[in-house]
Amino acid sequence: MTVQPFTLPPGETFRLKDFDPDFTGAYKKKKDAKTQTAENLARLRELQEMLYAQDKHALLIVLQAMDAGGKDGAIKHVMGAYNPQGVQVTSFKAPTEEELAHDFLWRVHKAAPRRGMVGIFNRSHYEDVLVVRVHNLAPEAVWRQRYDHINAFERLLADAGVTVVKFFLYISKEEQAERLRERQRTPEKQWKFAPGDLDERKRWGDYMAAFEEALTRCNTKSAPWYVIPANHKWHRNLAVSQVLVNTMEAMDLRYPDPIPDIESYEIPD
Ligand code: ATP
Ligand code: MG
Repeated sequence: MTVQPFTLPPGETFRLKDFDPDFTGAYKKKKDAKTQTAENLARLRELQEMLYAQDKHALLIVLQAMDAGGKDGAIKHVMGAYNPQGVQVTSFKAPTEEELAHDFLWRVHKAAPRRGMVGIFNRSHYEDVLVVRVHNLAPEAVWRQRYDHINAFERLLADAGVTVVKFFLYISKEEQAERLRERQRTPEKQWKFAPGDLDERKRWGDYMAAFEEALTRCNTKSAPWYVIPANHKWHRNLAVSQVLVNTMEAMDLRYPDPIPDIESYEIPD
């Protein structure tokens, strides 16, 4: 079974075997998806223009994936459609000493987008129930509480006018191997090759279990998770852009009313 449209109703259990990372739907080849993707990107730009002008809501896009899963590619090829003036990308790395001296959401909350803005999280607070869980960086009793903390935090954002949408870019283990090999042998990609990624790869199964629990426990009406079949980059771009269009269409975005009597102003020579 392949689940569409890439999500489940809140409360249902995500089983990654029900999602096919190779899925491309009605589109068989890259060029079949070209027109639809381009239309989506154009629409995203229009919607963002209204978001910015209206200065009332914000959008937070959370991107999670295994290494080489395509987070950077999605930002470049999909979120690249937005006007950079209204976008703020935050890449979450291993926490600094100062960050570790605070609660795990401290650094995350500071990066939440202000009204009018699109915030993009390249990795996020979900690392605190993913890498932290897989590597025992915190005791189980600590990370287990975090699902509730995350849900409360995301609801706070929603109540404050921030629409939250979360993507797990889902590639297969074989596809990751192919992409890591590609990084290893292509001079322009070698800078991305990190031997540490190979250690993470060895824990693939642990990561999938951690993802399944995070997706299941934190898939809420106000902050849904989407599992994007991402083995084909063109399909990933199509699906992410489609979900973003749908999400933004539901945000009640409008240009603000003009100032009163706008017609009456004489433009001086
Ligand atoms: P790329 O996929 O292009 O390599 P990246 O997001 O992996 O980009 P890196 O600097 O290679 O960027 O990795 C960031 C690392 O920081 C990841 O291994 C991630 O698991 C780790 N990290 C992020 N947040 C946390 C956290 N809260 N606790 C521990 N490690 C974290
Ligand atoms: Mg990395």
